[in-house]
Order: sequence, then structure tokens, then C-alpha cells
Amino acid sequence: MKKEKTLVVIKPDGVQRTLIGEIIKRYERSGLKLVGLKMRVVGEDFIRKHYTVDPEWFLKTGKKTIESYAKKGKTPPSEDPLEVSEIVFKNLVKYIASGPVVAMVWQGMHAVGIVRKITGITEPLTSDMGTIRGDLTIDSYEVADVDSRAVRNLVHASGSIEEAEKEIALWFKPEEIINYRLINDEILYDVNLDGILE
Ligand code: ADP
Ligand code: MG
Repeated sequence: MKKEKTLVVIKPDGVQRTLIGEIIKRYERSGLKLVGLKMRVVGEDFIRKHYTVDPEWFLKTGKKTIESYAKKGKTPPSEDPLEVSEIVFKNLVKYIASGPVVAMVWQGMHAVGIVRKITGITEPLTSDMGTIRGDLTIDSYEVADVDSRAVRNLVHASGSIEEAEKEIALWFKPEEIINYRLINDEILYDVNLDGILE
């Protein structure tokens, strides 16, 4: 549990907004440990693989989008979740493939949940202040739809432990994940905190 890992990808808008440092800082200061890092440009096939590691992704994303419309009293582009998410996916490919991205693996207790909390929910309009998506950008499903594009929300973060395992295996070779000790680990994980006083 203390070595739980999760994948974060700074999307092309995050790189273009020169927010790489700011974004890394937010995860780093939480106490999680950076154990893998690379910059890449990815294409459609890779992006499809990335989003289909969760076979439910198309259904869930379609439902989430329809719900978000309903909450605002608006009509979604279709009532069929799979149709909605196909549109989302097509736009998502254009977005993620548009420029370099920075992929990272973060490790530590509850890494998946902590990273999702720091990241904020999908839509910047409704994500909380204090989160990356809430503080550092502006966008909404509605405006993205009008322009037929994906919601630009700076980062991807794995949604569950299972998703994280599959995504990390897709983005990183085992030897690209570094096992090392940080002094911080002593304070975060030591049971007795008995190594401080001389
Ligand atoms: P998250 O990134 O929060 O896990 P999803 O996995 O549901 O969100 O969706 C993946 C990405 O697809 C989102 O981060 C966002 O960029 C884009 N996206 C999701 N739903 C929509 C939508 N309804 N309209 C436009 N873009 C969307
Ligand atoms: Mg997701």
C-alpha cells in the first residue's frame, strides 16, 4: 500500500501554458515520490490504448457527460452514452496528440486517490479551487462542445489502482521506474519517528 503508484500526464495545454514546474510542484509537495518521468509525443493508436485500458471508459464518460448537462438543465449532444463518448474520444485524440506531453509516475500511500484530489474533477468550471484544474485553467463541457473539442484540463490522472497499473505498463518500461529512498520517507512512513532526536 505504501508503494501504490499512479500515472499523471501533463497534457499539451499544460506544456504550452508553461505549467510543467507548477504542476510537478503540487504533486511533489504532497509527500508523494516521483519515480518515473518522460516527455513524449503520442499518436491516435497509443491514445486509444490508453483510454481503453478501462473497458468501461466509453460508457462511464458518456454517462458523466450526460449528467453534467442535466445538472445545468441543458440537453446533451445525444442521450446514448456511447455515442456521446465517441464524440468525446475523437476530440480527445486531436487534443492529446497536438503536442508534447510529460508522463510521470508518482508513488506513495494512496497515490491514486491523493493525485486525483490534487488534480480536481474533469471540468475546470466545476473543479474545486485549490486543485490543479480549478486553479490553473478555465474551460467547460459546454464551450468545448460548441467548438467540437475536448475539455482542456491540463493533466490526466489515473482513476483507480487497476487503471493506474495498466496505464503505467503502457507508458513506462519496468526499468524506467526508479526504486529509491527519500529522506522524507522516514517522516511519512516510520512507525515510531525515533530517528530524529540525537
Ligand atoms: P478524467 O480525465 O477526469 O479522468 P475522463 O476519463 O472522463 O476524465 O475523460 C478523459 C478526458 O476527456 C478528460 O480529461 C477531458 O479532457 C476529456 N473529456 C471528458 N469528457 C468530455 C466531454 N464531455 N467533452 C469534452 N471533453 C471531455
Ligand atoms: Mg479518466
